[in-house]
Amino acid sequence: PFELAGKSVFVAGHRGMVGSALVRRLAQEHVTLLTVDRREVDLRDQAAVNQWFAGHHPQVVFLAAAKVGGIIANDTLRGEFIYDNLIIAANVIHAAHVHGVQKLLFLGSSCIYPKLAEQPLREDSLLTGPLEPTNEPYAIAKIAGVKMVEAYRRQYDSDFINVMPTNLYGPGDNYHPEYSHVVAGLIRRFHEARVAGASEVTVWGSGKPRREFLCVDDLADACIHLLKTYSDSELVNIGTGEDITIADFAHLVASTVGYGGRINFDTSRPDGTPRKLLDVSRLARLGWRAKVPLPEGIKLAYEAFLRSRAAA
Ligand code: GDP
Repeated sequence: PFELAGKSVFVAGHRGMVGSALVRRLAQEHVTLLTVDRREVDLRDQAAVNQWFAGHHPQVVFLAAAKVGGIIANDTLRGEFIYDNLIIAANVIHAAHVHGVQKLLFLGSSCIYPKLAEQPLREDSLLTGPLEPTNEPYAIAKIAGVKMVEAYRRQYDSDFINVMPTNLYGPGDNYHPEYSHVVAGLIRRFHEARVAGASEVTVWGSGKPRREFLCVDDLADACIHLLKTYSDSELVNIGTGEDITIADFAHLVASTVGYGGRINFDTSRPDGTPRKLLDVSRLARLGWRAKVPLPEGIKLAYEAFLRSRAAA
């Protein structure tokens, strides 16, 4: 096992939903936490990244920095999604190699798997078929990061590992009405409908796609577990192993926020991939399983949303 205690740990992307969950979880470990503000170091700037690594020499890196968003953001900001994610991965992984980082964990995404791969999605389905078009630029950038980690492991014997989280939610999510992911988007929409006394809420797509949702605090716990115990070139999926239709999920959000009106489906909006459920048997064999049940997680996410509203 890798000894995390006593190490200096860089969380790249510490203000994001994943990075901030890692920072909360790392408070339980005896580590020196390193973070850097984006105004100080733009991770897309190779020289700035190298200079920062040379000055701070982290021993461990969690690469949680990424440009992310929901189905509309992925589909419309296609250039930004491929450029930002490619260059962040290239700069940080390479700098970790050059500056002798002992262990690096790269966060990929379940959207790297082919659109029509057999479900639940096994790690070995990577690159066996075409991707879902709405998030192809993001997926290609993440696949490049995954392959970089693999290549550095093979050529330089770097102890770098790849983990693939499923759809995430929780504190620190982005509630943008158009660009958010479905969990944050629906929490906001149902909440605002309840407050306004509205009698109808529109959910995008047909309601038929199935998604798996993991609480980001569970993800952070799984990342720490794998960082300490896992050292191999195979990817590791991180999910709950359970999925739900968007329609059922919309009802869960409605009841969590106390909205009792009608729910409509807008089929002019994209459905995206029909189903996205990860095979988590490798993760289970590695000794980790999700702890937060979805209804409880959505309640926690709603409370976090209300706190962020109150603070704003
Ligand atoms: P995806 O898993 O990459 O497709 O990302 P999303 O989290 O954005 O979308 C998941 C599914 O939820 C898709 O089928 C969307 O059509 C559906 N959906 C329903 N309502 C919403 C919404 O308000 N926002 C988003 N982002 N997706 C929604």
